[in-house]
This record gives sequence, structure tokens and C-alpha cells, in this order.
Amino acid sequence: MSKVKTRFAPSPTGRMHVGNLRTALYAFLIAKHAEGTFMLRIEDTDQERLVEGAVDIIYRTLAKTGLVHDEGPDKDGGVGPYVQSERQAAGIYMDYAKQLVEKGEAYYCFCTKERLDSLKQSVGGDDKAITVYDKHCLNLTKEEVEEKLAAGVPFVIRQNVPNEGTTAFDDEIYGRIEVPNSELDDMILIKSDGYPTYNFANVVDDHTMGITHVVRGNEYLSSSPKYNRLYEAFGWEVPVYIHCPLITDADHHKLSKRSGHSSFEDLLEQGFVTEAIVNYVALLGWCPKDNKEIFSLQELIEAFDYHDISKSPAVLDIPKLRWMNGEYIKAMDEASYLELAMPYLRQALTKDLDLNKIAGMVKTRIEVFTDIEPMVKFFDQLPEYGLELYTNKKWKVTPEKSLKVLTDLLPVLEEQEDYSNDALYSILKNYADTNELKAGFVIWPVRIAVSGQQNTPAGATEIMEVIGKEETLLRMRKAIEMLQA
Ligand code: GLU
Repeated sequence: MSKVKTRFAPSPTGRMHVGNLRTALYAFLIAKHAEGTFMLRIEDTDQERLVEGAVDIIYRTLAKTGLVHDEGPDKDGGVGPYVQSERQAAGIYMDYAKQLVEKGEAYYCFCTKERLDSLKQSVGGDDKAITVYDKHCLNLTKEEVEEKLAAGVPFVIRQNVPNEGTTAFDDEIYGRIEVPNSELDDMILIKSDGYPTYNFANVVDDHTMGITHVVRGNEYLSSSPKYNRLYEAFGWEVPVYIHCPLITDADHHKLSKRSGHSSFEDLLEQGFVTEAIVNYVALLGWCPKDNKEIFSLQELIEAFDYHDISKSPAVLDIPKLRWMNGEYIKAMDEASYLELAMPYLRQALTKDLDLNKIAGMVKTRIEVFTDIEPMVKFFDQLPEYGLELYTNKKWKVTPEKSLKVLTDLLPVLEEQEDYSNDALYSILKNYADTNELKAGFVIWPVRIAVSGQQNTPAGATEIMEVIGKEETLLRMRKAIEMLQA
């Protein structure tokens, strides 16, 4: 078999959807696993859906995720142009469409919108209507066609699918799929604006660009028999098809822009790490035989066998992704972690605090970077809190007992100059020992007083070290005041 060549063929219509990222990743992995070529093609023939800046997003996302293409608009591999509008301008699609017309596998259609509307049929009783074209223009003579073309009558070119027989194709994941030809419409290959449809362009391009394995979402599965007919009509070898399963949200609905978590950039904005997203996306429909979960991109290349892709829908499970992201954060080296965490800390904290120290405190506690802000906000500003926080069953602490501890400790802390964690801890420990109390009993009220919350990313004395003497005393006095009231 020839060298494996796959392509990622996005349409520049906005942010990179998780489904698109998965397609790119699988196409990349299949190529790299086989030491083949990964190509980028820009599919911009649907001029109405184009979004400015979307091509940049594609490049940026591929670069950031490490899915580096070997060939593409910016890296000529000799089969360009790699942008469909440029291929269209070069007349590639029209030339191939004319070849099919010559062979009787396609034909010009001059039907007006009104005529096509009259062919609309409702399907399945709901409001949906489909147009099944009745091959009206197939009956035009060569002369009639020439005449209309010469007169500039608008036209499309349609595929000529026989009404009888069946068409089959093989998919690596879904197996053999056979469809009666009567169910295949004479789809449009060239639109009235002269652009090819995806249906036609994908076949012409995949063949002429030497693609051996076509990897794409399963929304294209039902059209694949028609694509096979085109390959056969041209006398071209059919590529290996790998259709990837649907991705749904937790409610088993197809992921859509409205699901909120749906694009790579959305996930970055929600505090996820690129490597974790890539790792997680790899598992959306693929599971290695040994059920391993944490993979670097290089490990994925080695392990990825497309035969293990599943046909069942994959669920984008955000809690699972959060867990995985947390594992990536824990495993990060200090420098990379600080670089990523700092913007979130600066955003959350306005006072002059030791941000490196705070970053260290939360590293093993966060799952995503956006968890940082709510976790550290109290360093900046003591939150409003209720006296019930002082109650702790384990240490048998009550608000009354808290008042005693805090009142006893306040003068000692006022005298204390060294506000390092160790020194402060010794003070609390001494106080506990002298009064025959458990350390936890003493630390609890202090923690509430200095943080205003029961769960903190660090111990009471570590917090005091970070906020410093002045702020500690302010918070202690406020606590005493509240408890006395
Ligand atoms: N341009 C198509 C899309 O973005 C690509 C489908 C394919 O990979 O063939 O959905």
C-alpha cells in the first residue's frame, strides 16, 4: 500500500469545534502512526458561511495543539492549491464535472427555483420537505444544452444516479453500508455560482491530492455511497473511509455551539490546558486496549490504532475533562505552571501579596485555572461570613470557645514580630499545649477569623504569613467583635 496520507479539511466558519478538533487529531494520529503525511486543506466553497478570521483560528489551533501539518496552503507539497476557492478559480472542479457530463455520469440542470419548489415533498409527516429531483433536465438534447449555455441561462451540474440497483461502500468503523439507488438523489456537483459543492469537491480533491484515508465526522456517512459512485465514475480508487462517531453533551444531545463547551477556544477560556484538551479529545470515541487514559501527543501517535475507534456516540463529559485537566496541572513543572496561573492570580488579587506562594498553595487543588479566583479571593478581601462557621464538631469548637481562643491569642500576636509560618505555628501550638488543648481546636477559629471560610487552600498560619501582621490583626479583631456581639 502507498504511504498513508490524511487530510484535515475544515471550513473556515468560526471557532474550532471539539468535533473538528477530534477529526484533525485522528487524521493527524493516523498519518503519524503510519509515518505518513498529514495535510491541511481549506474548504471555503460555501461562500455564505465564511467567517473572517476563521482561517487564522485554524492555523493557531493546529500550532497550539501540536497537530503540525506537513502540507497545506503555507507548505507546498506539490498538489496545491490547498484552498478550494483557489482550486475553483483554477477551473479544476469544472473540468472534472465536464468529464462526468461527457461520460453521462452527470448533467446540466437549468431548472428554475419555482420548478424545484414544486418538486418538494414532505417527509415523515413533519414539516420538513425535501426536493427529490426528477431528472427533468437529463432529457435535454445536447443541442438544447448548448443553446442554453450559449444564452447564459443559469445552471447547476448534477450527478446522474440510476434509479435501480444499490450502491455500497465500506467504512472502517461502521462496516459495509448499502443503500438502494432510489434513495440517492441526483445531488448538485457544481452550484449556480460556479463553486463546487462539498459533495463534489471532497472527491475531486481527495483523489487529486493523493489522500489514502478519509477521516471525518459521521454526518457524512449517509452521503458516502454517492461519493463512491463518483470515484467509480471517474475510475478512481476509493480511499479508506474512517467516519468518527457523534459527540454528544451529557444529555446525549448532539454538541452544538449552544452547548457552551463546544470549541477549543471556549475550553481555553474556561481554564483548561491545551495538552489536557488534546488528551481528552483523543478519548472521545477511541479507547486503547489497555484503557490507559493519560497520553502525551507522542504517546498517542504510538498507541493510536484507528481500528479501536468506536461507533457509539461519545459523550463530552466535562467533569471527566476537569479531572484530567487537574492531573495535568499537578504534573506541570513550576515554571510552566506559574506562567499559566499568574494571569488568573493577578486578575483575582489586587493587593501586594506573594503570588508565587499562593500559586503553590492552589496547584494541587484546582482542576481548571478558573477555579483559582474563588479559591484565593479571601486573601485580598475578607468575605462576609456568619458565626456558624466557627462551629466544628470534630474539634468540638463553638463560637463561645472560639471567642476565648481568639481573645487569648490576640495580645500574643500583637507582640509577635516574626510572621513566618513556622513562628506563627509555634505560637498556636504553645498556646494549645499550655492549655492542654488539641492543636486543631486552636487552629480552627484562627482559620475562620483570617479567611472567613472553612475550606482554605492552606493552613491558618500559612495564610497569616501571606496576608501579614497588620491584616491578620485587623481580621482577628473583627472576629472578636463579631463573636462578642
Ligand atoms: N469541510 C468539511 C467540514 O468542515 C470537512 C469534511 C471532511 O473532512 O471531509 O465539515
